[in-house]
Amino acid sequence: MRLSRYILPTLKEDPSDAVVLSHRLMMRAGLIRKESAGMYVYLPLGWRVLRKIIDIVREEMDLAGALEFLMPELTAADLWKESGRWDTMGPEMFRIRDRNGLEYALAPTHEEAFTGAVRNIISSYRDLPVNVYQINTKFRDEIRPRFGVIRSKEFIMKDAYSFDMDEAGLESSYQAMRAAYRRVFERCGLDTIPVEADTGAMGGSNSEEFMVASEVGEETLLLCGGCGYKANREKAEYRRADGAGDGPKKDLTEVPTPDVKTIEDLTRFFKCEPDRFLKSIIYEADGRPVMAVVPGSREINEQKLARAAGAAQLDLAPDSVVEEVTGAPVGFAGPVTKKDLRIIYDISVKHVSNGITGANKKDVHFEGVNPGRDFIIKEEADVTCAEEGDPCPRCGASMYVKKGIEVGHIFKLGYKYTKAMDVAVLDENGAKVTPIMGCYGIGVNRTMAAVVEQHNDGKGIIWPASIAPFDAHLVGLGKSDEEIAAADEIYEMLLAEGIDVLYDDRKASPGIKFADADLVGIPVRLTVGKTYFQTGEVEVKLRSGGEVMKVSREGLAEKVSELLGQDPTMKA
Ligand code: ATP
Ligand code: MG
Repeated sequence: MRLSRYILPTLKEDPSDAVVLSHRLMMRAGLIRKESAGMYVYLPLGWRVLRKIIDIVREEMDLAGALEFLMPELTAADLWKESGRWDTMGPEMFRIRDRNGLEYALAPTHEEAFTGAVRNIISSYRDLPVNVYQINTKFRDEIRPRFGVIRSKEFIMKDAYSFDMDEAGLESSYQAMRAAYRRVFERCGLDTIPVEADTGAMGGSNSEEFMVASEVGEETLLLCGGCGYKANREKAEYRRADGAGDGPKKDLTEVPTPDVKTIEDLTRFFKCEPDRFLKSIIYEADGRPVMAVVPGSREINEQKLARAAGAAQLDLAPDSVVEEVTGAPVGFAGPVTKKDLRIIYDISVKHVSNGITGANKKDVHFEGVNPGRDFIIKEEADVTCAEEGDPCPRCGASMYVKKGIEVGHIFKLGYKYTKAMDVAVLDENGAKVTPIMGCYGIGVNRTMAAVVEQHNDGKGIIWPASIAPFDAHLVGLGKSDEEIAAADEIYEMLLAEGIDVLYDDRKASPGIKFADADLVGIPVRLTVGKTYFQTGEVEVKLRSGGEVMKVSREGLAEKVSELLGQDPTMKA
Protein backbone atom coordinates (compact mmCIF):
# COMPACT_ATOMS: atom_id res chain seq x y z
CA MET A 1 0.00 0.00 0.00
CA ARG A 2 1.36 3.39 -0.98
CA LEU A 3 1.01 5.88 1.81
CA SER A 4 0.54 8.69 -0.72
CA ARG A 5 -2.74 6.96 -1.70
CA TYR A 6 -3.72 5.87 1.81
CA ILE A 7 -5.66 7.54 4.61
CA LEU A 8 -3.36 7.83 7.59
CA PRO A 9 -4.05 11.09 9.41
CA THR A 10 -1.48 10.88 12.21
CA LEU A 11 -1.58 13.54 14.91
CA LYS A 12 1.40 15.21 16.58
CA GLU A 13 -0.57 16.25 19.65
CA ASP A 14 -2.63 14.19 22.06
CA PRO A 15 -6.37 14.79 21.62
CA SER A 16 -7.58 16.66 24.68
CA ASP A 17 -10.44 14.29 25.47
CA ALA A 18 -8.30 11.14 25.45
CA VAL A 19 -7.37 10.31 29.03
CA VAL A 20 -5.84 6.87 28.64
CA LEU A 21 -2.73 5.99 26.66
CA SER A 22 -4.34 3.50 24.29
CA HIS A 23 -7.01 6.03 23.34
CA ARG A 24 -4.38 8.71 22.71
CA LEU A 25 -2.19 6.40 20.65
CA MET A 26 -5.07 4.96 18.63
CA MET A 27 -6.18 8.48 17.75
CA ARG A 28 -2.67 9.75 17.05
CA ALA A 29 -1.66 6.74 14.95
CA GLY A 30 -4.69 7.29 12.70
CA LEU A 31 -6.49 4.06 13.69
CA ILE A 32 -9.77 5.57 14.88
CA ARG A 33 -11.73 8.78 14.94
CA LYS A 34 -14.51 9.73 17.34
CA GLU A 35 -17.91 9.88 15.70
CA SER A 36 -19.78 10.91 18.84
CA ALA A 37 -19.69 9.97 22.52
CA GLY A 38 -18.91 6.25 22.75
CA MET A 39 -18.90 5.71 18.99
CA TYR A 40 -15.84 5.39 16.80
CA VAL A 41 -14.95 5.24 13.14
CA TYR A 42 -12.26 2.70 12.32
CA LEU A 43 -9.98 4.14 9.65
CA PRO A 44 -8.33 1.67 7.24
CA LEU A 45 -5.30 1.06 9.45
CA GLY A 46 -7.42 0.46 12.56
CA TRP A 47 -9.82 -1.82 10.71
CA ARG A 48 -6.87 -3.92 9.51
CA VAL A 49 -5.83 -4.55 13.14
CA LEU A 50 -9.38 -5.31 14.19
CA ARG A 51 -9.77 -7.76 11.30
CA LYS A 52 -6.58 -9.57 12.29
CA ILE A 53 -7.87 -9.98 15.84
CA ILE A 54 -11.19 -11.21 14.45
CA ASP A 55 -9.33 -13.73 12.28
CA ILE A 56 -7.44 -15.10 15.28
CA VAL A 57 -10.64 -15.33 17.33
CA ARG A 58 -12.41 -17.10 14.48
CA GLU A 59 -9.57 -19.56 13.91
CA GLU A 60 -9.47 -20.51 17.58
CA MET A 61 -13.26 -20.82 17.87
CA ASP A 62 -13.35 -23.02 14.78
CA LEU A 63 -10.48 -25.14 16.12
CA ALA A 64 -12.38 -25.57 19.38
CA GLY A 65 -15.35 -26.89 17.39
CA ALA A 66 -17.63 -23.86 17.72
CA LEU A 67 -19.89 -23.12 14.74
CA GLU A 68 -20.17 -19.62 13.36
CA PHE A 69 -23.58 -17.96 12.82
CA LEU A 70 -24.60 -14.51 11.75
CA MET A 71 -27.43 -13.30 13.96
CA PRO A 72 -29.74 -10.31 13.60
CA GLU A 73 -28.75 -7.43 15.82
CA LEU A 74 -32.34 -6.32 15.98
CA THR A 75 -33.93 -8.69 18.46
CA ALA A 76 -37.67 -8.89 19.00
CA ALA A 77 -39.02 -7.90 22.41
CA ASP A 78 -40.92 -11.21 22.55
CA LEU A 79 -37.64 -13.11 22.86
CA TRP A 80 -36.55 -10.96 25.78
CA LYS A 81 -39.97 -11.33 27.38
CA GLU A 82 -39.63 -15.10 27.29
CA SER A 83 -36.54 -14.93 29.50
CA GLY A 84 -37.92 -12.11 31.61
CA ARG A 85 -35.06 -9.82 30.71
CA TRP A 86 -37.18 -7.30 28.80
CA ASP A 87 -38.08 -5.95 32.24
CA THR A 88 -34.73 -6.41 33.98
CA MET A 89 -32.14 -5.30 31.40
CA GLY A 90 -32.60 -1.68 32.39
CA PRO A 91 -31.50 1.45 30.56
CA GLU A 92 -28.32 -0.12 29.15
CA MET A 93 -30.44 -1.82 26.48
CA PHE A 94 -31.37 0.27 23.45
CA ARG A 95 -35.03 -0.26 22.62
CA ILE A 96 -36.81 0.76 19.44
CA ARG A 97 -40.14 0.32 17.66
CA ASP A 98 -40.85 -0.42 14.04
CA ARG A 99 -43.50 1.44 12.02
CA ASN A 100 -46.15 -0.98 13.25
CA GLY A 101 -45.31 -0.33 16.86
CA LEU A 102 -43.54 -3.66 17.42
CA GLU A 103 -40.75 -3.43 19.97
CA TYR A 104 -37.14 -4.52 19.52
CA ALA A 105 -33.82 -4.29 21.29
CA LEU A 106 -30.53 -3.56 19.60
CA ALA A 107 -28.83 -6.59 21.08
CA PRO A 108 -26.48 -5.90 23.99
CA THR A 109 -25.91 -9.68 24.19
CA HIS A 110 -27.43 -12.73 22.47
CA GLU A 111 -28.40 -15.39 25.01
CA GLU A 112 -32.07 -15.15 24.09
CA ALA A 113 -31.49 -14.86 20.36
CA PHE A 114 -29.20 -17.90 20.19
CA THR A 115 -31.33 -19.95 22.56
CA GLY A 116 -34.34 -19.11 20.40
CA ALA A 117 -32.51 -20.09 17.22
CA VAL A 118 -31.04 -23.31 18.60
CA ARG A 119 -34.31 -24.41 20.19
CA ASN A 120 -35.85 -24.87 16.76
CA ILE A 121 -32.87 -26.80 15.41
CA ILE A 122 -31.96 -29.32 18.11
CA SER A 123 -34.32 -32.12 19.07
CA SER A 124 -32.26 -35.11 20.14
CA TYR A 125 -29.28 -35.95 22.35
CA ARG A 126 -27.51 -36.71 19.08
CA ASP A 127 -27.57 -33.00 18.27
CA LEU A 128 -25.62 -32.17 21.42
CA PRO A 129 -23.16 -30.94 22.46
CA VAL A 130 -23.19 -27.89 20.26
CA ASN A 131 -21.39 -24.58 20.61
CA VAL A 132 -22.53 -21.69 18.43
CA TYR A 133 -20.94 -18.29 18.02
CA GLN A 134 -20.84 -15.08 16.07
CA ILE A 135 -18.55 -12.09 15.71
CA ASN A 136 -20.94 -9.19 15.57
CA THR A 137 -21.86 -5.75 16.82
CA LYS A 138 -23.28 -5.20 20.29
CA PHE A 139 -25.06 -2.09 21.49
CA ARG A 140 -24.99 -0.90 25.08
CA ASP A 141 -26.20 2.44 26.32
CA GLU A 142 -23.29 2.72 28.77
CA ILE A 143 -23.87 5.25 31.50
CA ARG A 144 -20.35 6.62 30.98
CA PRO A 145 -18.75 5.59 27.71
CA ARG A 146 -15.04 6.23 28.17
CA PHE A 147 -11.44 5.37 27.46
CA GLY A 148 -11.98 5.31 23.72
CA VAL A 149 -12.99 1.90 22.45
CA ILE A 150 -12.51 0.27 25.86
CA ARG A 151 -16.03 1.25 26.86
CA SER A 152 -18.13 2.32 23.92
CA LYS A 153 -21.81 2.22 23.04
CA GLU A 154 -21.29 0.05 20.00
CA PHE A 155 -18.59 -2.61 19.81
CA ILE A 156 -17.75 -5.93 18.25
CA MET A 157 -18.03 -8.98 20.43
CA LYS A 158 -17.35 -12.61 19.78
CA ASP A 159 -20.04 -14.36 21.72
CA ALA A 160 -20.41 -18.12 21.95
CA TYR A 161 -23.08 -20.25 23.60
CA SER A 162 -22.70 -23.94 24.40
CA PHE A 163 -25.54 -26.41 24.87
CA ASP A 164 -24.83 -29.71 26.61
CA MET A 165 -26.81 -32.68 27.90
CA ASP A 166 -25.45 -32.46 31.44
CA GLU A 167 -23.05 -30.71 33.78
CA ALA A 168 -20.11 -32.91 32.81
CA GLY A 169 -20.69 -31.89 29.21
CA LEU A 170 -20.85 -28.24 30.18
CA GLU A 171 -17.60 -28.59 32.13
CA SER A 172 -15.84 -29.91 29.05
CA SER A 173 -17.33 -27.19 26.77
CA TYR A 174 -16.26 -24.59 29.33
CA GLN A 175 -12.71 -25.95 29.54
CA ALA A 176 -12.44 -26.02 25.74
CA MET A 177 -13.43 -22.34 25.60
CA ARG A 178 -11.08 -21.51 28.45
CA ALA A 179 -8.17 -23.05 26.56
CA ALA A 180 -9.21 -21.32 23.32
CA TYR A 181 -9.35 -17.96 25.13
CA ARG A 182 -5.85 -18.41 26.47
CA ARG A 183 -4.63 -19.10 22.93
CA VAL A 184 -6.51 -16.13 21.45
CA PHE A 185 -4.99 -13.68 23.90
CA GLU A 186 -1.54 -15.24 23.67
CA ARG A 187 -1.64 -14.99 19.88
CA CYS A 188 -2.63 -11.32 20.18
CA GLY A 189 0.44 -10.75 22.35
CA LEU A 190 -1.60 -10.09 25.47
CA ASP A 191 -0.66 -11.24 28.93
CA THR A 192 -3.95 -12.07 30.60
CA ILE A 193 -4.82 -13.14 34.11
CA PRO A 194 -7.90 -15.37 34.38
CA VAL A 195 -9.66 -14.48 37.63
CA GLU A 196 -12.68 -15.95 39.38
CA ALA A 197 -15.69 -13.76 38.83
CA ASP A 198 -19.07 -13.35 40.41
CA THR A 199 -21.64 -15.78 39.12
CA GLY A 200 -24.76 -14.27 40.63
CA ALA A 201 -27.08 -17.13 41.40
CA MET A 202 -24.82 -19.91 40.01
CA GLY A 203 -22.19 -20.01 42.77
CA GLY A 204 -18.91 -21.91 42.74
CA SER A 205 -16.01 -21.20 40.41
CA ASN A 206 -18.17 -21.17 37.35
CA SER A 207 -17.16 -17.91 35.83
CA GLU A 208 -13.83 -16.41 34.94
CA GLU A 209 -12.83 -13.09 33.49
CA PHE A 210 -9.69 -12.63 31.44
CA MET A 211 -7.98 -9.54 32.72
CA VAL A 212 -5.16 -7.47 31.35
CA ALA A 213 -3.22 -5.84 34.17
CA SER A 214 -3.28 -2.10 33.60
CA GLU A 215 -3.35 1.04 35.67
CA VAL A 216 -6.33 2.23 33.65
CA GLY A 217 -8.32 -0.94 34.31
CA GLU A 218 -11.72 -0.48 35.90
CA GLU A 219 -11.62 -3.87 37.59
CA THR A 220 -9.81 -4.59 40.85
CA LEU A 221 -8.12 -7.96 41.12
CA LEU A 222 -7.13 -9.70 44.34
CA LEU A 223 -4.13 -11.94 43.77
CA CYS A 224 -2.39 -14.32 46.16
CA GLY A 225 1.38 -14.56 45.90
CA GLY A 226 1.29 -17.83 47.87
CA CYS A 227 -1.09 -20.25 46.16
CA GLY A 228 -2.05 -18.29 43.05
CA TYR A 229 -5.68 -17.61 44.05
CA LYS A 230 -7.04 -14.92 41.72
CA ALA A 231 -10.42 -13.25 41.86
CA ASN A 232 -12.04 -9.98 41.00
CA ARG A 233 -13.15 -7.73 43.79
CA GLU A 234 -16.83 -8.63 43.48
CA LYS A 235 -15.99 -12.25 44.02
CA ALA A 236 -12.81 -12.31 46.15
CA GLU A 237 -13.20 -13.93 49.52
CA TYR A 238 -10.78 -13.57 52.37
CA ARG A 239 -10.08 -15.16 55.70
CA ARG A 240 -11.18 -13.33 58.77
CA ALA A 241 -8.81 -12.09 61.43
CA ASP A 242 -10.28 -11.89 64.91
CA GLY A 243 -12.14 -8.77 65.92
CA ALA A 244 -10.90 -5.46 67.19
CA GLY A 245 -12.37 -5.73 70.68
CA ASP A 246 -10.41 -5.60 73.89
CA GLY A 247 -10.82 -6.64 77.52
CA PRO A 248 -13.98 -7.63 79.37
CA LYS A 249 -17.43 -6.68 78.10
CA LYS A 250 -18.47 -3.17 79.03
CA ASP A 251 -22.01 -1.99 79.59
CA LEU A 252 -24.05 -0.70 76.71
CA THR A 253 -23.98 3.09 77.08
CA GLU A 254 -25.49 5.95 75.12
CA VAL A 255 -23.03 8.66 74.13
CA PRO A 256 -24.18 12.04 72.77
CA THR A 257 -22.53 12.57 69.38
CA PRO A 258 -23.92 15.75 67.83
CA ASP A 259 -22.80 16.10 64.22
CA VAL A 260 -20.52 13.05 64.45
CA LYS A 261 -21.57 10.93 61.54
CA THR A 262 -18.86 9.61 59.27
CA ILE A 263 -16.41 6.90 60.27
CA GLU A 264 -13.63 9.54 60.22
CA ASP A 265 -15.63 11.80 62.57
CA LEU A 266 -16.28 8.82 64.83
CA THR A 267 -12.67 7.62 65.03
CA ARG A 268 -11.64 11.14 66.00
CA PHE A 269 -14.43 11.48 68.53
CA PHE A 270 -14.00 8.07 70.16
CA LYS A 271 -10.20 7.97 69.61
CA CYS A 272 -10.19 4.38 68.39
CA GLU A 273 -9.66 2.21 65.29
CA PRO A 274 -12.37 2.17 62.58
CA ASP A 275 -12.84 -1.57 63.08
CA ARG A 276 -14.47 -0.90 66.44
CA PHE A 277 -17.45 0.64 64.64
CA LEU A 278 -20.24 -1.44 63.25
CA LYS A 279 -21.16 0.46 60.11
CA SER A 280 -24.88 -0.05 59.49
CA ILE A 281 -26.24 0.80 56.08
CA ILE A 282 -29.84 0.47 54.92
CA TYR A 283 -30.49 -0.95 51.46
CA GLU A 284 -33.59 -1.91 49.57
CA ALA A 285 -33.40 -5.50 48.37
CA ASP A 286 -36.06 -5.98 45.70
CA GLY A 287 -37.80 -3.02 47.31
CA ARG A 288 -37.69 -4.33 50.90
CA PRO A 289 -35.45 -2.64 53.49
CA VAL A 290 -32.47 -4.57 54.79
CA MET A 291 -29.66 -3.37 57.05
CA ALA A 292 -26.08 -4.46 56.35
CA VAL A 293 -23.69 -4.34 59.29
CA VAL A 294 -19.92 -4.42 58.64
CA PRO A 295 -16.75 -3.32 60.47
CA GLY A 296 -16.10 0.40 59.98
CA SER A 297 -12.85 -0.12 58.08
CA ARG A 298 -14.39 -2.17 55.32
CA GLU A 299 -16.39 -1.43 52.24
CA ILE A 300 -19.69 -3.20 51.64
CA ASN A 301 -19.58 -5.41 48.55
CA GLU A 302 -22.97 -4.92 46.97
CA GLN A 303 -22.71 -8.01 44.75
CA LYS A 304 -22.03 -10.21 47.76
CA LEU A 305 -24.79 -8.47 49.71
CA ALA A 306 -27.30 -8.90 46.90
CA ARG A 307 -26.43 -12.59 46.77
CA ALA A 308 -26.78 -12.94 50.54
CA ALA A 309 -30.11 -11.13 50.45
CA GLY A 310 -31.27 -13.24 47.51
CA ALA A 311 -32.12 -10.01 45.71
CA ALA A 312 -32.16 -9.36 41.98
CA GLN A 313 -32.04 -5.62 42.58
CA LEU A 314 -30.19 -3.93 45.43
CA ASP A 315 -30.06 -0.17 45.97
CA LEU A 316 -29.15 2.16 48.78
CA ALA A 317 -32.37 3.11 50.57
CA PRO A 318 -33.49 6.72 50.20
CA ASP A 319 -33.23 8.94 53.30
CA SER A 320 -36.96 8.74 53.92
CA VAL A 321 -36.79 4.95 54.19
CA VAL A 322 -33.75 5.13 56.49
CA GLU A 323 -35.63 7.48 58.78
CA GLU A 324 -38.69 5.30 58.74
CA VAL A 325 -36.92 2.02 59.55
CA THR A 326 -34.43 3.38 62.12
CA GLY A 327 -36.43 6.24 63.59
CA ALA A 328 -33.40 8.51 63.20
CA PRO A 329 -31.86 10.65 60.47
CA VAL A 330 -29.18 9.13 58.23
CA GLY A 331 -25.90 8.56 60.10
CA PHE A 332 -27.25 7.05 63.31
CA ALA A 333 -28.38 3.58 62.28
CA GLY A 334 -27.30 0.53 64.23
CA PRO A 335 -28.28 -3.09 64.88
CA VAL A 336 -29.42 -2.54 68.48
CA THR A 337 -33.06 -2.01 67.67
CA LYS A 338 -36.46 -3.31 68.64
CA LYS A 339 -37.85 -2.74 65.16
CA ASP A 340 -38.64 -5.70 63.00
CA LEU A 341 -35.93 -5.16 60.38
CA ARG A 342 -34.00 -7.70 58.35
CA ILE A 343 -30.31 -7.39 59.24
CA ILE A 344 -27.44 -9.12 57.43
CA TYR A 345 -24.18 -9.15 59.41
CA ASP A 346 -20.78 -9.52 57.84
CA ILE A 347 -19.17 -12.68 59.20
CA SER A 348 -16.51 -10.64 61.00
CA VAL A 349 -19.08 -8.81 63.15
CA LYS A 350 -19.35 -11.68 65.62
CA HIS A 351 -15.67 -11.17 66.57
CA VAL A 352 -16.16 -7.53 67.56
CA SER A 353 -16.44 -6.81 71.25
CA ASN A 354 -17.21 -3.48 72.90
CA GLY A 355 -18.14 -2.00 69.53
CA ILE A 356 -19.65 1.37 68.72
CA THR A 357 -22.80 1.81 66.64
CA GLY A 358 -25.50 4.34 65.90
CA ALA A 359 -28.28 4.27 68.53
CA ASN A 360 -31.11 4.82 66.03
CA LYS A 361 -31.58 8.22 67.68
CA LYS A 362 -30.51 11.60 66.36
CA ASP A 363 -27.05 12.60 67.64
CA VAL A 364 -26.59 9.47 69.77
CA HIS A 365 -24.27 6.44 69.49
CA PHE A 366 -23.92 3.33 71.61
CA GLU A 367 -20.62 2.35 73.14
CA GLY A 368 -19.86 -1.11 74.58
CA VAL A 369 -21.93 -2.93 71.97
CA ASN A 370 -21.52 -6.72 72.11
CA PRO A 371 -22.91 -9.23 69.65
CA GLY A 372 -24.97 -11.97 71.28
CA ARG A 373 -25.85 -9.73 74.19
CA ASP A 374 -27.05 -6.49 72.57
CA PHE A 375 -28.19 -8.01 69.30
CA ILE A 376 -28.61 -11.52 67.98
CA ILE A 377 -26.98 -12.45 64.68
CA LYS A 378 -29.69 -14.27 62.73
CA GLU A 379 -28.25 -13.85 59.26
CA GLU A 380 -24.57 -13.58 58.46
CA ALA A 381 -22.57 -13.64 55.24
CA ASP A 382 -19.35 -12.43 53.66
CA VAL A 383 -20.55 -9.02 52.46
CA THR A 384 -17.43 -6.85 52.32
CA CYS A 385 -14.76 -6.40 49.65
CA ALA A 386 -11.44 -8.17 50.04
CA GLU A 387 -8.56 -5.72 50.26
CA GLU A 388 -4.81 -5.49 49.79
CA GLY A 389 -3.10 -7.41 52.59
CA ASP A 390 -6.13 -9.58 53.45
CA PRO A 391 -5.33 -13.25 54.06
CA CYS A 392 -6.04 -15.48 51.05
CA PRO A 393 -9.15 -17.68 51.52
CA ARG A 394 -7.22 -20.73 50.30
CA CYS A 395 -3.78 -20.52 51.90
CA GLY A 396 -3.83 -17.55 54.27
CA ALA A 397 -0.90 -15.73 52.60
CA SER A 398 -1.30 -12.01 52.16
CA MET A 399 -3.11 -10.94 48.95
CA TYR A 400 -2.17 -7.99 46.75
CA VAL A 401 -4.21 -5.82 44.43
CA LYS A 402 -3.90 -5.05 40.71
CA LYS A 403 -6.06 -3.05 38.35
CA GLY A 404 -7.27 -4.86 35.26
CA ILE A 405 -9.12 -4.44 31.98
CA GLU A 406 -11.63 -7.24 31.34
CA VAL A 407 -11.16 -8.48 27.78
CA GLY A 408 -13.06 -11.75 27.97
CA HIS A 409 -15.55 -13.54 30.13
CA ILE A 410 -16.54 -17.21 30.30
CA PHE A 411 -19.55 -18.27 32.27
CA LYS A 412 -21.47 -21.42 33.14
CA LEU A 413 -25.02 -20.21 32.70
CA GLY A 414 -26.80 -23.34 33.78
CA TYR A 415 -30.48 -23.76 32.87
CA LYS A 416 -31.59 -20.15 33.15
CA TYR A 417 -32.40 -19.61 29.46
CA THR A 418 -33.13 -23.16 28.37
CA LYS A 419 -35.72 -23.51 31.14
CA ALA A 420 -37.28 -20.09 30.69
CA MET A 421 -37.45 -20.56 26.93
CA ASP A 422 -38.59 -24.20 26.94
CA VAL A 423 -35.69 -25.83 25.19
CA ALA A 424 -35.77 -29.61 25.31
CA VAL A 425 -34.21 -32.58 23.54
CA LEU A 426 -35.01 -36.27 23.84
CA ASP A 427 -32.42 -38.49 25.50
CA GLU A 428 -31.57 -42.08 24.53
CA ASN A 429 -34.70 -43.34 26.30
CA GLY A 430 -36.97 -40.80 24.69
CA ALA A 431 -37.24 -38.71 27.85
CA LYS A 432 -37.22 -34.91 27.63
CA VAL A 433 -34.02 -33.27 28.85
CA THR A 434 -33.34 -29.56 29.28
CA PRO A 435 -29.89 -28.71 27.90
CA ILE A 436 -27.44 -26.82 30.08
CA MET A 437 -25.72 -23.71 28.73
CA GLY A 438 -22.47 -21.80 28.91
CA CYS A 439 -21.67 -18.41 27.38
CA TYR A 440 -18.36 -16.96 26.37
CA GLY A 441 -17.55 -13.39 25.27
CA ILE A 442 -14.53 -11.54 23.95
CA GLY A 443 -14.53 -7.79 23.39
CA VAL A 444 -12.68 -7.43 20.11
CA ASN A 445 -12.20 -3.65 20.16
CA ARG A 446 -11.31 -3.65 23.82
CA THR A 447 -8.74 -6.37 23.12
CA MET A 448 -7.16 -4.09 20.51
CA ALA A 449 -6.96 -1.20 22.99
CA ALA A 450 -5.55 -3.53 25.66
CA VAL A 451 -2.77 -4.60 23.28
CA VAL A 452 -1.91 -0.92 22.75
CA GLU A 453 -1.89 -0.40 26.53
CA GLN A 454 0.64 -3.26 26.86
CA HIS A 455 2.79 -2.63 23.79
CA ASN A 456 4.10 0.90 23.40
CA ASP A 457 6.97 3.21 24.16
CA GLY A 458 7.46 6.98 24.24
CA LYS A 459 7.28 7.11 20.45
CA GLY A 460 4.14 5.13 19.74
CA ILE A 461 2.64 1.68 19.37
CA ILE A 462 4.71 -1.51 19.01
CA TRP A 463 2.36 -4.06 17.41
CA PRO A 464 2.83 -7.78 17.96
CA ALA A 465 3.46 -9.18 14.47
CA SER A 466 0.29 -11.30 14.55
CA ILE A 467 -2.08 -8.33 14.58
CA ALA A 468 0.08 -5.55 13.12
CA PRO A 469 -1.73 -3.62 10.38
CA PHE A 470 1.13 -4.38 7.95
CA ASP A 471 4.19 -6.62 8.13
CA ALA A 472 6.70 -4.00 7.07
CA HIS A 473 6.93 -0.24 6.81
CA LEU A 474 9.06 0.80 3.85
CA VAL A 475 10.45 4.32 4.08
CA GLY A 476 11.67 5.83 0.80
CA LEU A 477 14.02 8.75 1.34
CA GLY A 478 15.16 9.42 -2.23
CA LYS A 479 14.44 12.67 -4.02
CA SER A 480 15.64 12.16 -7.59
CA ASP A 481 13.54 10.21 -10.09
CA GLU A 482 16.17 7.50 -10.05
CA GLU A 483 16.14 7.14 -6.29
CA ILE A 484 12.36 7.11 -6.18
CA ALA A 485 12.32 4.43 -8.88
CA ALA A 486 14.73 2.31 -6.81
CA ALA A 487 12.45 2.45 -3.76
CA ASP A 488 9.40 1.74 -5.96
CA GLU A 489 11.17 -1.32 -7.26
CA ILE A 490 11.89 -2.62 -3.75
CA TYR A 491 8.21 -2.08 -2.91
CA GLU A 492 7.04 -4.04 -5.94
CA MET A 493 9.48 -6.82 -5.20
CA LEU A 494 8.33 -7.17 -1.56
CA LEU A 495 4.70 -7.29 -2.64
CA ALA A 496 5.54 -9.98 -5.19
CA GLU A 497 7.27 -11.94 -2.42
CA GLY A 498 4.10 -11.85 -0.34
CA ILE A 499 5.19 -9.23 2.19
CA ASP A 500 2.33 -6.98 3.29
CA VAL A 501 4.10 -3.65 3.08
CA LEU A 502 3.10 -0.07 3.76
CA TYR A 503 5.28 2.11 1.56
CA ASP A 504 5.89 5.69 2.68
CA ASP A 505 6.32 7.30 -0.73
CA ARG A 506 5.12 10.71 0.41
CA LYS A 507 7.03 13.87 -0.31
CA ALA A 508 7.87 14.48 3.33
CA SER A 509 11.01 14.86 5.42
CA PRO A 510 12.81 11.81 6.83
CA GLY A 511 12.00 13.15 10.31
CA ILE A 512 8.27 13.07 9.64
CA LYS A 513 8.44 9.66 7.99
CA PHE A 514 10.39 8.04 10.82
CA ALA A 515 8.21 9.65 13.49
CA ASP A 516 5.08 8.31 11.76
CA ALA A 517 6.65 4.86 11.41
CA ASP A 518 7.38 4.81 15.14
CA LEU A 519 3.91 6.08 16.02
CA VAL A 520 2.10 3.56 13.81
CA GLY A 521 4.27 0.71 15.13
CA ILE A 522 4.54 -1.77 12.25
CA PRO A 523 7.02 -4.46 13.39
CA VAL A 524 9.73 -4.16 10.69
CA ARG A 525 10.95 -0.87 9.25
CA LEU A 526 12.88 -0.82 5.97
CA THR A 527 14.71 2.27 4.81
CA VAL A 528 15.73 2.85 1.22
CA GLY A 529 18.04 5.86 1.54
CA LYS A 530 21.65 6.90 1.14
CA THR A 531 23.06 3.49 2.08
CA TYR A 532 20.99 1.81 -0.61
CA PHE A 533 22.01 4.25 -3.30
CA GLN A 534 25.68 3.79 -2.33
CA THR A 535 25.98 0.11 -1.39
CA GLY A 536 22.73 -1.55 -2.51
CA GLU A 537 21.77 -2.41 1.06
CA VAL A 538 18.41 -1.68 2.69
CA GLU A 539 18.43 -0.69 6.36
CA VAL A 540 16.24 -3.00 8.43
CA LYS A 541 15.13 -2.20 11.95
CA LEU A 542 12.67 -3.79 14.34
CA ARG A 543 10.14 -1.41 15.90
CA SER A 544 10.68 -3.24 19.18
CA GLY A 545 14.33 -2.19 19.26
CA GLY A 546 17.79 -3.47 18.44
CA GLU A 547 20.44 -2.59 15.90
CA VAL A 548 19.95 -1.46 12.34
CA MET A 549 20.72 -4.39 10.02
CA LYS A 550 21.95 -3.92 6.47
CA VAL A 551 20.45 -6.38 4.04
CA SER A 552 20.92 -6.74 0.31
CA ARG A 553 17.94 -6.45 -2.03
CA GLU A 554 18.06 -10.19 -2.77
CA GLY A 555 17.88 -11.28 0.88
CA LEU A 556 15.32 -8.70 1.93
CA ALA A 557 12.01 -10.58 1.73
CA GLU A 558 13.51 -13.58 3.45
CA LYS A 559 14.94 -11.40 6.21
CA VAL A 560 11.56 -9.76 6.82
CA SER A 561 9.85 -13.16 7.04
CA GLU A 562 12.52 -14.42 9.38
CA LEU A 563 12.17 -11.39 11.68
CA LEU A 564 8.38 -11.69 11.74
CA GLY A 565 8.71 -15.39 12.49
CA GLN A 566 10.82 -14.57 15.54
CA ASP A 567 7.96 -12.62 17.09
CA PRO A 568 6.46 -14.92 19.76
CA THR A 569 2.93 -14.11 18.59
CA MET A 570 3.68 -15.74 15.22
CA LYS A 571 4.51 -19.06 16.87
CA ALA A 572 1.59 -19.36 19.22
P1 ATP B 1 -17.90 -4.52 31.85
O1 ATP B 1 -17.94 -5.10 33.24
O2 ATP B 1 -16.55 -3.98 31.47
O3 ATP B 1 -19.02 -3.57 31.56
P2 ATP B 1 -19.37 -6.75 30.98
O4 ATP B 1 -19.15 -7.64 32.13
O5 ATP B 1 -20.61 -5.97 30.87
O6 ATP B 1 -18.12 -5.72 30.88
P3 ATP B 1 -19.73 -8.94 29.16
O7 ATP B 1 -21.19 -8.82 29.11
O8 ATP B 1 -19.11 -10.06 29.91
O9 ATP B 1 -19.10 -7.55 29.64
O10 ATP B 1 -19.18 -8.87 27.66
C1 ATP B 1 -18.09 -9.62 27.17
C2 ATP B 1 -16.94 -8.73 26.74
O11 ATP B 1 -17.38 -7.63 25.93
C3 ATP B 1 -16.24 -8.06 27.90
O12 ATP B 1 -15.31 -8.94 28.48
C4 ATP B 1 -15.55 -6.89 27.21
O13 ATP B 1 -14.33 -7.30 26.62
C5 ATP B 1 -16.52 -6.52 26.11
N1 ATP B 1 -17.31 -5.32 26.43
C6 ATP B 1 -18.34 -5.23 27.29
N2 ATP B 1 -18.85 -3.99 27.31
C7 ATP B 1 -18.12 -3.26 26.43
C8 ATP B 1 -18.17 -1.91 25.99
N3 ATP B 1 -19.07 -1.06 26.44
N4 ATP B 1 -17.27 -1.49 25.06
C9 ATP B 1 -16.34 -2.35 24.58
N5 ATP B 1 -16.26 -3.64 24.95
C10 ATP B 1 -17.13 -4.10 25.86
MG1 MG C 1 -18.26 -9.53 32.45
